[in-house]
Amino acid sequence: MNIYNLSLVELQQLMLRYQQPTFRAKQLYTHLYKLLTPTFDAMTDLPLRLREQLNADWQIGQLKALREQTTDQGLTRKMLWQIDGNAVIETVLMVYPPDRATICVSTQAGCAMGCVFCATGKLGLLRNVTSGEIIEQVVYFERYLRQNHDQLIQHHAKLPNHITNLVFMGMGEPFANYDRWWSAVERLNDKQGFNLGARNMTVSTVGLVKGIRQLTDESLQINLAVSLHAPNDELRSELMPVNQRFPIAELMDAVREYTDKTRRRVSFEYVLLQDTNDLPEHAHQLAHLIKGMLCHVNLIPWNPIPGTPLSRSHRERVTAFQRIIQAAGISCTVRVERGVDIAAACGQLAAIPSPHDPIQLRSA
Ligand code: SAH
Ligand code: SF4
Repeated sequence: MNIYNLSLVELQQLMLRYQQPTFRAKQLYTHLYKLLTPTFDAMTDLPLRLREQLNADWQIGQLKALREQTTDQGLTRKMLWQIDGNAVIETVLMVYPPDRATICVSTQAGCAMGCVFCATGKLGLLRNVTSGEIIEQVVYFERYLRQNHDQLIQHHAKLPNHITNLVFMGMGEPFANYDRWWSAVERLNDKQGFNLGARNMTVSTVGLVKGIRQLTDESLQINLAVSLHAPNDELRSELMPVNQRFPIAELMDAVREYTDKTRRRVSFEYVLLQDTNDLPEHAHQLAHLIKGMLCHVNLIPWNPIPGTPLSRSHRERVTAFQRIIQAAGISCTVRVERGVDIAAACGQLAAIPSPHDPIQLRSA
């Protein structure tokens, strides 16, 4: 069993079961989340008997690394993990000299939402990722940054030696796996745990209204990004089947409640597809839809995936679209993609194994 699935309170309960004093839980938690100690044997401040008990019942992480790919002189790294017999997920690290390192984490193997422009959506849902598997994705790259900082720095004047930002924008829909996802968020944020600030975490949702409402009521306010991608129901339903369940008006109500209550700015993501949703009339409609909201628009030129007739908007279209949004007084940026050449960019994560990977997948 994966010890990274347990909260501090659950670790305390475990200590009771092992007839150990509960303060041992805190020591163990510090090893797991702060020191990132890789084995129980290396936790030498724990009594030998406890280490034996832990070794007998628990593993420190269960993700199996299958393949790591890198680009941008090692500043972008994508790891493919096996999480089960036939499910795999991916995690991407993007280092931005001098002082930012963003990790993009998966919350589901595959995704049930079926957005037509997304590689992950083509897989369907294989299974939810556990809270422990979410933590492990972060721990792996945090260790990497801590351990390889000196080596990496030879090519760059200055680099961060730890993860500074986390986005839940990998494979899957976080709000379709809310409880496991949130339990990981709490431990990642916990000052006694991994201690990453809520302001440095962003969750992106396809627009599951219940999840937005739930997040609105959480005491911890992480940033919210909403995948909008179309300014009207007809087009949005064509691109994103979820729109039939939660049409734009209902989605906007939930987002307004979020911004009203939290006073935090929401980001609307908008993938630009040539001749599909990128015309000036779409931009005007979008501006009209969100005008007056506490928001920002993030345009994402579509990253190609195999097997669709869609194409990426030309640069002039992107610029024209951005100008129209900005002219309406709405802040709007174009996302600079990383890792397109290793299929690590937004929407390209499909965990397609290569023939060299030591597993056989049903979907392969
Ligand atoms: N399931 C969540 C989060 C993961 S996807 C969501 O949909 O919001 C992260 C972002 O990448 C989303 O905005 C998604 O719509 C976008 N995306 C999906 N496929 C893409 C592609 N091929 N090119 C660019 N962005 C894409
Ligand atoms: Fe799922 Fe998000 Fe891809 Fe849609 S864009 S299929 S919600 S991962």
